[in-house]
Amino acid sequence: MDLSTRLHLLELIRVSASAERTCRAAERSARRATTRRKEAAAVCRKLRPALRTTRNSDFEEALRTLADAEREHDARAAQVDVAGTRWRRAFTASKRANARLGEELARTHEMAGTSRSGRKGARLTAEVSLLAELAAMPKTLIRAANAILVQSSAGKDSVVALDRVVQWAKAVGCLDKVVVVHADIGQDAEWPGVRNLAQQQAERYGLRFVVVKASVGFLGMVKKRGLWPDAQNRLCTSTLKRDEAAKLFTQIVDELGLDEQALIVNCLGIRAAESPSRRKKRELTIDHRASNGRRLILTWHPVFHLTETQIWQEIADNALDYHPVYDTLIPRLSCIFCILASFDVLVRAVRLCWVLGLPTPKTYVDLEERIGHRFKNQFSLAEVVEEAARQEAAQGPLTWRRGDAIRHHLGDDTATAYLRRLALAA
Ligand code: SF4
Repeated sequence: MDLSTRLHLLELIRVSASAERTCRAAERSARRATTRRKEAAAVCRKLRPALRTTRNSDFEEALRTLADAEREHDARAAQVDVAGTRWRRAFTASKRANARLGEELARTHEMAGTSRSGRKGARLTAEVSLLAELAAMPKTLIRAANAILVQSSAGKDSVVALDRVVQWAKAVGCLDKVVVVHADIGQDAEWPGVRNLAQQQAERYGLRFVVVKASVGFLGMVKKRGLWPDAQNRLCTSTLKRDEAAKLFTQIVDELGLDEQALIVNCLGIRAAESPSRRKKRELTIDHRASNGRRLILTWHPVFHLTETQIWQEIADNALDYHPVYDTLIPRLSCIFCILASFDVLVRAVRLCWVLGLPTPKTYVDLEERIGHRFKNQFSLAEVVEEAARQEAAQGPLTWRRGDAIRHHLGDDTATAYLRRLALAA
């Protein structure tokens, strides 16, 4: 199957899925409107007989209440009509898109001489297999894309993902399509030097570097909500990173000024081995939420199948610069205090803050006390700081040497060779 057929099928899959989503949303809103209309009608019925028996002094008030209930009833009835129209439109669009997709898939299978799965699940099966095949052809994918965004936290996985994308893009003469994007989540939440490092990593290849920033940073968001985010409600990632990146998609598509739908490949340095929830993800997916008629956004995880050791090996082999936080054996360059980090990692982060003279532990503990919500269900940040103080008293301040992260994962010789290569590259 050629590339344009693949992309055409993916677009049909997107349109079909989007029409079905709209249809389901319209159904839900119609159900809600019907329920509320019934409630409003019941209030009307209850009030009318009471008007006949009510005392004079209460009469005006009862009339007003009845008028409100009737207005509410009319508004809900209008909503039911609108939702019904939306549902009918979405249902027709979804039927049409599914039929087109079915025809295209049947034709493609006929040409390839392969059998087709049943109607149920056919779209998902087609989506998964088309994208898996495309993920195995990184250079073709890059050549087909109109723009390639690499979301960089400046962390170890991001820098390897960037290096891989750059090597593939160079090989097919498409380096000018690559843009590095860094989401700034607030100076008081990030380790010092993160933004500069992300910029240097992009500049190493001469790439355009864009910083996106929400109007409220991580701590501002917590203050506003009075709650810390958690693994189930990762508002920090969605509002501070994903939503900001989505605005950039619009800007990039405007800059491209194409007459046809743009293909944007959005790369993230996430790996299956990081967590059970990440293992469930796939290497290449359609970003249904951010795609529309003007842009098809594919989310790509170029380091999805790498282990942590392989990541460090690529960093060492290619002399990629990494943040010194890793040398203190903190495994992720995330927020200083990440809601997903373990107790031990948070303790280490507190001790590193003390060495660097950062006020972050106190800021967070004060905020935790003020909002009355524990940083994590299992423990508070105050407890983390207490444990850090106990370890500090027993062991003294945290110490580390440049290259310790590589020493830890790959041994002394590799670390020495890496540092030598890094010095030569500087
Ligand atoms: S690093 Fe952790 S705390 Fe920071 S935005 Fe990501 S998930 Fe949220």
